[in-house]
Amino acid sequence: MGGAGVSVHDHRDRETGAPLISLEEAVRRTMAGIAPLPPTDTPLGDAHDRVMVEDIRSPVDLPPFASSAMDGYAVRSADVDHADPEHPVGLRMDGAVRLGRPADVEVRPGGAVAVPTGGPVPAGADAVVPVEHAVVEGMRLMVLRAPGRRRHIRPAGEDVAVGDLLVPAGRRLTAPDLGLLASAGLAAVPVRPRARVGIVSTGDELVDPGQPRGDGRIYDANSYTLQGAVREAGGVPILLGRVPDDPDRLAVTLVDAVPRVDVLVSSGGVSVGERDPVKRAFGRGGGVEFVEVAMQPGKPQAFGTIGGRPYFGLPGNPVSVFVSFEVFVRPALLRMMGRPGKRPSITATVEGELGGPSEKVRFARVRLRRRGEEWRASPTGGWRSNLLATVSRANGLAVVPVGVERLETGDRCRVLVIRDPDEP
Ligand code: AMP
Ligand code: MG
Repeated sequence: MGGAGVSVHDHRDRETGAPLISLEEAVRRTMAGIAPLPPTDTPLGDAHDRVMVEDIRSPVDLPPFASSAMDGYAVRSADVDHADPEHPVGLRMDGAVRLGRPADVEVRPGGAVAVPTGGPVPAGADAVVPVEHAVVEGMRLMVLRAPGRRRHIRPAGEDVAVGDLLVPAGRRLTAPDLGLLASAGLAAVPVRPRARVGIVSTGDELVDPGQPRGDGRIYDANSYTLQGAVREAGGVPILLGRVPDDPDRLAVTLVDAVPRVDVLVSSGGVSVGERDPVKRAFGRGGGVEFVEVAMQPGKPQAFGTIGGRPYFGLPGNPVSVFVSFEVFVRPALLRMMGRPGKRPSITATVEGELGGPSEKVRFARVRLRRRGEEWRASPTGGWRSNLLATVSRANGLAVVPVGVERLETGDRCRVLVIRDPDEP
């Protein structure tokens, strides 16, 4: 698949001698087949967090009609120009406007019409006197203070005029966007759907949480890591369960799921072990490629398509699963959902030591802390790929680039922020 004449095997694994492809090359290959999901007209109530595919222009003025900003009385401002508490001006009460009804009265010279907050301002009026600035005496209204022209009137179209841009294409809808679209009377909007992600764990040793474990067995952690990671990326996880190290069972599980998913993800069984089921199921030609990526953790990866759906065969170690999802699956899901794919990153000062094989990009689990103006990043524990608690404790992934032997206290490094650093 590599470019003609140029070897994509930039490096070899120092320990095993196996050829490695660079992380950039692996990302390029996995992203090559990923396209945004076609948009669907989605009811506003389901559109939160979805990405709009078109510029949406307002079919109406907002507010749609001139309304009162106060509970008060609609008047002609010229009639009450000179009103003050010593010299109140008397007006005739000509009626009242009701909320939710058209204003079917007019304010004629010398008259006033009661109007509640949000009620339409009747024709003829150009100001509202708040109830606090007037007293009703029988059929007359005594105005104690001149309101001035246009006072306490919310004009039609002040917020948005017909044809104004309400929400631009590419916007991920947040709470006020939804409120605004509803204000304009829109019931459904064209957005990209959530990516449905089928998740399967492989391994003879796995047991579902809640079941007796049994000697030599471990609980299936990866299904749950992946489920959460998919949700955090805005996708819909579809748990396909766990399968033993049986290539036929794995193939059937994945292929059966194709009609209900947009993406397939498995964990485990992609390395060189005799019983590794992914390789045995998809290793002989077909649409799945097996590579060793110059990264740690997460070196062995399988990716391609199954039944026309993008497929990611992640390694089994729980930390590798988390990191592989971050670098391969998450960007793919975000692209499918129309979103930019990058985690925010910051530059931090290392506290402690970050090492590992320098022919690979290392993703080190760190805890970020603010110290005055700068960020400090310290390792959360050992580097081995089975130590899941070190990920749970981390709020950042420090990136140690290829060629850098190690980073020590005081060195600067780039850290992907994977959790709000102000949370425990
Ligand atoms: P594998 O990639 O299948 O060789 O698995 C690598 C390591 O990860 C082994 O120690 C497995 O037991 C472990 N492992 C694989 N899948 C899971 C899982 N779903 N939950 C927890 N550990 C796993
Ligand atoms: Mg396995």
